[in-house]
Amino acid sequence: MQNFVFQNETKIIFGRDEEQVVGQEAKKYGKKLLLHYGGGSIKKNGLYQRVVESLQAQGIEIFELSGVKPNPRVSLVREGVTLCKENNIGFILAVGGGSVIDSAKAIAAGVNYEGDVWDFFDGKNSVNDCLPLGVILTIPAAGSESSGGSVITNEDGSYKRAVGHETMRPRFAILNPVLSYTLPSYQTACGITDMMSHILERYFTREKNVELTDRLCEATLKTIINNAHTVLDDPTNYDARAEIMWAGTIAHNDSLNTGRIGDWGSHDIEHEISGIYDIAHGAGLAIIFPAWMKYVYKHDVNRFVQFANRVWDVEIDLNDLEKTALQGIQKTEQFFRLIGMPVKLNEVDIGEEHFEEMARKGTERGPIGNFIKLAEKDVFEIYQLAK
Ligand code: NAP
Ligand code: FE
Repeated sequence: MQNFVFQNETKIIFGRDEEQVVGQEAKKYGKKLLLHYGGGSIKKNGLYQRVVESLQAQGIEIFELSGVKPNPRVSLVREGVTLCKENNIGFILAVGGGSVIDSAKAIAAGVNYEGDVWDFFDGKNSVNDCLPLGVILTIPAAGSESSGGSVITNEDGSYKRAVGHETMRPRFAILNPVLSYTLPSYQTACGITDMMSHILERYFTREKNVELTDRLCEATLKTIINNAHTVLDDPTNYDARAEIMWAGTIAHNDSLNTGRIGDWGSHDIEHEISGIYDIAHGAGLAIIFPAWMKYVYKHDVNRFVQFANRVWDVEIDLNDLEKTALQGIQKTEQFFRLIGMPVKLNEVDIGEEHFEEMARKGTERGPIGNFIKLAEKDVFEIYQLAK
């Protein structure tokens, strides 16, 4: 097991009706805030009104910036930075999913910075002084509510890039499973795929002797798998929604990569796809993760055998370990298909025309992944396996 530091400062406030405490939590960070949200789902389901009332009851002045799109754009982030600078805003409240939260984090990072916020995403500068932010989560998926990362798309060149910094972790995150009842089933399934992928990125490591972390990953994966069909068939099942929502946070709050380095190749490979084609991140992962698994499993068959056996209950065939490993990959792909995800690029009308470009852009800062290092030609082969 490798040395590690684990620190996650996000205060989690979990349960029914908990959004009503948002005013009390937010006022700890000043009297002016930016309320940041997406395309309007929070207005349709009444959450917006409840949030505004709770903030006003505490005398907080609200500035608003809505319109965050899935795969959030740097142009709106720049608008948010200007709005905060001009009005001396000291706190950002993100109400939504990964896209809104990531956009809020990027704004928070840009306010105390002289240059253009995109500098952080293309590696020209690093984040160091972020405004504090809080979250009300409406879709369990990205885990951004307690991660230190943000993923933003630059429309100029279709670059989708991630940046991470400890100060970008939200100060608090309110998780009320009831808020996820109104999700369309496709979004629920995309979220399930993304949170599973966050665990798989950490599970497929070359580090040995990390049993506790392995077992925590397997338990979280199994919990998600066990509850996925329930939330899809019975969207207002509180207990199942609650399991999925908490699992999405656990999957990405860094407790599941203690003592080892994760892979993250599949996320990088997927970001090139959603950067160009603007598909949902979870759908892209359902396509890329099985392809990545097929490409790399021979480098550590035993780890894939353990995955097949402990997560998917595949019986181990001691005479044919490779068969067992492949069954685990097949089960993963079948599961994504069963919950309504695409598992091939052609199912989302993506052809081969950008494979070379995506492989080049995805590796332009060097080889990606850690389970095995992937160079441009490897990434190209993975797109081929996914077509
Ligand atoms: P999202 O893009 O934030 O939201 C997807 C859609 O769901 C939106 O159209 C949104 O509509 C709708 N929606 C959200 N909550 C809803 C509700 N309760 N009822 C009805 N509709 C609702 O989804 P996401 O999967 O959470 O975020 C994806 C982004 O996160 C991607 O850009 C991905 O790359 C990124 N990501 C970030 C991290 C990280 O650590 N920072 C990790 C993984 C992925 P409205 O806009 O109308 O609300
Ligand atoms: Fe993700």
